[in-house]
Amino acid sequence: MARTFRVALLVLLAGAVVWTLIGCDGGTLFLSTDDEVQIGSEASAEFDKENPIDRSSPLARRISDIGLRVAAAADPPAYPYEFTLVREDTVNAFAYPGGKIYMYEGLINELGNDTDAIAWVMAHEITHVQQRHSAKAIERAIGAGVLIQIVLGEKTAGDIAGVVGALALQDYGRDHEFTADRLGVKWSALAGYDPTAGVAVLETFQRLQGEEPSDFEILFMTHPGNNDRINALKRSLDKFGYSGKYYTAQ
Ligand SMILES: [Zn+2]
Repeated sequence: MARTFRVALLVLLAGAVVWTLIGCDGGTLFLSTDDEVQIGSEASAEFDKENPIDRSSPLARRISDIGLRVAAAADPPAYPYEFTLVREDTVNAFAYPGGKIYMYEGLINELGNDTDAIAWVMAHEITHVQQRHSAKAIERAIGAGVLIQIVLGEKTAGDIAGVVGALALQDYGRDHEFTADRLGVKWSALAGYDPTAGVAVLETFQRLQGEEPSDFEILFMTHPGNNDRINALKRSLDKFGYSGKYYTAQ
């Protein structure tokens, strides 16, 4: 009986793994919200040990304030968000699953330290967390075998945090990037920022990518083309009826 049950469970799991790995957005994720928070916390603790992070300077506090304000507007605020400045001249921002989000000083400088632009980047990263894009990317990366071990209780979420730390968390895929751009507009506007700053951010990426492709390889490798993203973003602004400093809704 126990054996039959175990076989049935494995068949079910195998089906669920296939469902997950084919990337169905409606598919059940193996990782629970608690798993996501635990994995993200452990991976971010490792990241903190190896990188020049800053949570106390005036700029770091400003980044955190902007991020928390956008996160509070995102619906529903299900994760314990934390926004951290990385004191490095790199043009990037990224999110671990569960709400740990990092923004590099190099990106802030390229955006001219513009509050609305920073808010839109945060809203984009919050969307990756909230829509569980990060968790889905991890599930794809760690593979079915490890997922089955987690479900069977042979491995814990903590065991895979180290692996997660080494992953390039930019690899969400084209559809998820468009979703993050679109909802980024919505959350930053709801939080009271100018959502048209998203256009300025993407135009900055486009300019930098044209000038120095090698430096931006990682950030843009898997992202859809910037022209496509800018056009899609403008259509979202039109649809929501948002006008501002950087764009007038049509
Ligand atoms: Zn993204």
